[in-house]
Amino acid sequence: MRIASFLAVLFVFSADLSALELKGPLVQGGLIIGTAKPGSVITFEGTRLKSLSNGTFVFGLSRNAPPTIMLKVHTQDGQIQKHLLKVKQRIYKTQRIKGLPRRKVTPAVRDFDRIKRERDLLINVRNSISLRNNFREGFIWPVKGRISGVYGSQRILNGKPRSPHLGVDIAAPLGTTVLASAKGTVSLVHQGMFFAGKTIFIDHGLGVGTIYIHLSKILVDKGQKVNQGQLIGLVGKTGRATGSHLHWGLSWNLIRLDPSLLVGSMRLKQD
Ligand SMILES: [Zn+2]
Repeated sequence: MRIASFLAVLFVFSADLSALELKGPLVQGGLIIGTAKPGSVITFEGTRLKSLSNGTFVFGLSRNAPPTIMLKVHTQDGQIQKHLLKVKQRIYKTQRIKGLPRRKVTPAVRDFDRIKRERDLLINVRNSISLRNNFREGFIWPVKGRISGVYGSQRILNGKPRSPHLGVDIAAPLGTTVLASAKGTVSLVHQGMFFAGKTIFIDHGLGVGTIYIHLSKILVDKGQKVNQGQLIGLVGKTGRATGSHLHWGLSWNLIRLDPSLLVGSMRLKQD
């Protein structure tokens, strides 16, 4: 499927000529960057979005986003513009992975506390909304290699159904350099999560973040500002992984998006 063909730029002009501009793919997993007249209040499916002072806002379309969503712009002069947006629906594949350590698929009771603690850490960083606008400057592939896992696929691990895969896996030799996909601030480093292994999370502003997991080495510190293309770590297979690869994820708050929609094709081989 050629997702890139859905890349849409939508301009909506209201009667008072205040423009709403949306950039990004209106497809499940897509990140949309919007601009409205400064001072406008935007609601997405009934939830108020945080905006920058120049009118920039963002929202993400989840893996299971419905076929239509409602965006409302409340202008400073009291008007409400309603925009019913169509969301392209995707069909997800099923991926079967065997050979994972049994405990990583069915954790032991003694692992539960640790798993919850680590999940809470990720919820916290994903939910923190900074007022930077680094997400506007574009994204690059953090590693180049064969795509060994795509966004959204249903996962059967060691024969057991598990949560969908909400990122992109890029196979690469152990020790391959991992680059920051976009400018941002490192908001989490973790030296060994139960599922994710060595993990880096970068905050790009307004709730947009990227995550890099299963690393063999982390080369940045929490709080460090990084530029796009900066070396941040090395590919590994820590956590729940059968071979060395980078799992690259994108999120808007707690909504997990498809990072491959942000970047041009590499050798976008779908599996
Ligand atoms: Zn993955």
